[in-house]
Amino acid sequence: AKAYANYDSVELATWKAGEPVPFLFLAHAFEAIANEPKRLQITQLLVTTFRTILATTPEDLLPAVYLCSNQVAPSHEGLELGIGDSILMKALCLATGKSMQKIKDDYAEAGDLGNVAAAARAKQKTMFKPKPLTVQGVFKAFQTIARTQGAKSQDKKIDLINKLLVSSSDVEPGFIMRALQGKLRIGLGDETVRVALAHAQSLHRHGASNTDGKLANRLETAVQAVKQAYSQCPSYDVLIPALLQYPIEELPEHVKFTPGVPVKPMLAKATTGIAEVLDKFADQEFTCEYKYDGERAQVHYTEDGKVFIYSRNSENNTGKYPDIAAVIPSLVKEGVKSMVLDCEAVAFERATGKILPFQVLSTRKRKDVEVADIKVQVCLFAFDCLYLNGTMLLQRPLTERRAALSQAVHEKPGELQYALFKTSTDVEELGTFLNESVAAGTEGLIVKTLDSTYEPSKRSLHWLKLKKDYLEGVGDTLDVAVIGAWFGKGKRSGVYGAFLLAVFNAEGEEFQTISKIGTGFSEEQLKQFSEELKEHIIPTAKPYYRFSETLLPDVWFDAKTVWEVKCADFSISPRHKAALGLADPDKGISIRFPRLVKVRDDKSPEDATSAEQVAEMYFKQALTSKQPTGKADDE
Ligand code: ATP
Repeated sequence: AKAYANYDSVELATWKAGEPVPFLFLAHAFEAIANEPKRLQITQLLVTTFRTILATTPEDLLPAVYLCSNQVAPSHEGLELGIGDSILMKALCLATGKSMQKIKDDYAEAGDLGNVAAAARAKQKTMFKPKPLTVQGVFKAFQTIARTQGAKSQDKKIDLINKLLVSSSDVEPGFIMRALQGKLRIGLGDETVRVALAHAQSLHRHGASNTDGKLANRLETAVQAVKQAYSQCPSYDVLIPALLQYPIEELPEHVKFTPGVPVKPMLAKATTGIAEVLDKFADQEFTCEYKYDGERAQVHYTEDGKVFIYSRNSENNTGKYPDIAAVIPSLVKEGVKSMVLDCEAVAFERATGKILPFQVLSTRKRKDVEVADIKVQVCLFAFDCLYLNGTMLLQRPLTERRAALSQAVHEKPGELQYALFKTSTDVEELGTFLNESVAAGTEGLIVKTLDSTYEPSKRSLHWLKLKKDYLEGVGDTLDVAVIGAWFGKGKRSGVYGAFLLAVFNAEGEEFQTISKIGTGFSEEQLKQFSEELKEHIIPTAKPYYRFSETLLPDVWFDAKTVWEVKCADFSISPRHKAALGLADPDKGISIRFPRLVKVRDDKSPEDATSAEQVAEMYFKQALTSKQPTGKADDE
């Protein structure tokens, strides 16, 4: 609040109120943000940007927010950028008149297609000054590009991108390229966008004066309102119009939880054993549920009888589970018009009533599955109810949500069952229940406090994971991005023999290396991974990652693939950069003896284990005196 006190200015707009906001204005803001290391300053830069738009052309706020988030639609709509490099390079050849070889050489040299585009456009002499790009225009073009499918779609995309590039100038081409790649990477997290949005609107409506000493309160109320509204309905298409129309503190009433729009799932924290759970929940009532090992499934049943199933990432997974989607309406209890359930979809052998391992589920096709072709049967294990008959239940305690779950649907063995649970504080009873859960083919337990609310997208202290693995290692597995590889030697020649793994640091929006992994793969796996990862090679020696010059892989990959890995323990590493500065000022953290558990198709690399979590796990290990005994695997 101090930073804003008596700060009444907005940036001098170069356009008149009501006129479209020039894209150059936003591109300059991106440039300033990319060059600013401090989070608070980044927020302020964005607040000034949004305030200027609010004061002049508020209808451009929605496209501006989407462009800042590098999105073209809410995630559940599945409309994405991420245009391949070959299309972008072809468009760049057209727009600049350069040869493909020249563009490729420049790319290898610069390491970033955005920089190549910016440099090429800067050198170009043009006869006519093209009409300047607008925020609306660029956003609409991005949407059209993302929607373009079918015959000749590649040529159409190249044409659209060429047009954008030809009209671009100054710092615009670089950001256009990076945004189209889906890697804007200016160090602007989604959370910061929403905080800036809240501050900007509050300052726009009430000014920045702090003479009443309540500025800090007003800003905090605005942030809480925007966060709550977005957690109920994660769609800017709904949030921004409401933000423009209603008092900000009333937002949560107007941006309603809507069946058909998935909320981000609540997440659990890892623990090292029953003792830690009892310690953390000493004064609270809690319950233990089986932790099924499948895929998160948020099941929406809408008033018009439609069923949607969403993944952990809010992707529409209904096409993967047509069999489940078909059975839901018959299980809905009488009088139930709409509901949203949180479940785990698990591979299941109906004849024997046995839960099957995740590996079996992962053999199911991912899209457009035909019911007649289904070989892997799936049972939904439902553990929460977030919405029932027009009432949102997020702020209700778990006891009530569990009651709502049994009011919402009937069980049908092998197709939809309530998650098994036990409510007890007896250590022995809990130990037995944990053993039973593992014997039944699950990963262990999730322990939940009974009065906790549902906290979308939060890794909450009210949900604790108690995995069977806690006995052998560090309490939890890690989900890491595969960002590089080394060519195999000898028997492994022709495929990659080792891979470089990284975690995501949301603060700086960067991937930081955590380990090299090279053992424990079958020949078959190496062949398959090498084939799949080839598609993601980035032809540069200088990728946008945090790594050490002393551990350079033969090839770099775009961070697309996520692997779940087990490890023996954590150690401070001079060569790895995970959680740099969190446990040691100059060194990162690495994991020792990593082993692949499974490929995680349901997680994006940005959703993988975070640098912060790595630091947390490291400190926990230090506390439980399980000191690392040796050097990291690759050192
Ligand atoms: P996270 O989802 O916490 O990032 P992760 O994807 O690696 O971690 P796990 O650590 O295996 O997953 O555990 C959390 C996941 O367990 C949930 O996201 C959910 O899909 C699954 N799960 C299974 N049973 C339950 C349950 N009873 N309650 C909540 N989640 C459950």
